[in-house]
Amino acid sequence: MEYTLEYFDRFVKIYAKHLSENKEYLTQLDAAIGDGDHGINMDRGAKAALERLKSMDPKTPGELLRTVRMALLSTVGGAAGPLYGTVFMKMSIAIGNKEKIDDKELVKALEQALLGIKTLGKAEVGEKTMVDVWEPVVEFLKEKVLKEGYELPDICEEVIKLAEERMKATIPMIARKGRASYLGERSIGHQDPGATSSYLFFRSLCEALQR
Ligand code: ADP
Ligand code: MG
Repeated sequence: MEYTLEYFDRFVKIYAKHLSENKEYLTQLDAAIGDGDHGINMDRGAKAALERLKSMDPKTPGELLRTVRMALLSTVGGAAGPLYGTVFMKMSIAIGNKEKIDDKELVKALEQALLGIKTLGKAEVGEKTMVDVWEPVVEFLKEKVLKEGYELPDICEEVIKLAEERMKATIPMIARKGRASYLGERSIGHQDPGATSSYLFFRSLCEALQR
């Protein structure tokens, strides 16, 4: 597969649509263990990103991802703003000024994004954050794409299933990072909002392939 400017443009639009459609849901999840702004934050960021893409008209995948990052940083706030900002920045840096990338390069860019999340947020798997989705999905992609030579379209069903499983696996966890950690054991029984928006992220990466 080749991942072009058009692919990343489709991805951002699909992700924005999911965030908009799940705005209330993400907000309810965050209301249970946080301050109830995750859906509103992410939807505002995605809408700002689409606006900025229209006015900046980026010419490469790296430029597009950098443009999204700027929009997120200036509009999202909270924990998720800088964390997703880092995702788009690290991917943009990894891709550089290439016109298009292949599956291996995409996975390496996602690996850099995960490292960025972990460096900034210091969360490990099991602490009820977006890392609980990101790390297993990136590890799976590294195994399948970097080692075994599969392309993303071959394994997308598994990627989406894994992301969904790991999102749901945050329900019984005790939050150890971010606002939800103030609740301690009372955070048990609720799905993590950031893990949920991360599931939507990977689902969008796959859905952008199919258009
Ligand atoms: P805030 O908590 O500032 O209101 P959001 O509600 O937008 O920000 O985002 C909350 C989500 O951010 C959590 O559900 C969690 O997944 C993620 N998060 C919070 N802190 C961290 C961290 N240190 N590392 C990784 N993810 C984190
Ligand atoms: Mg919040």
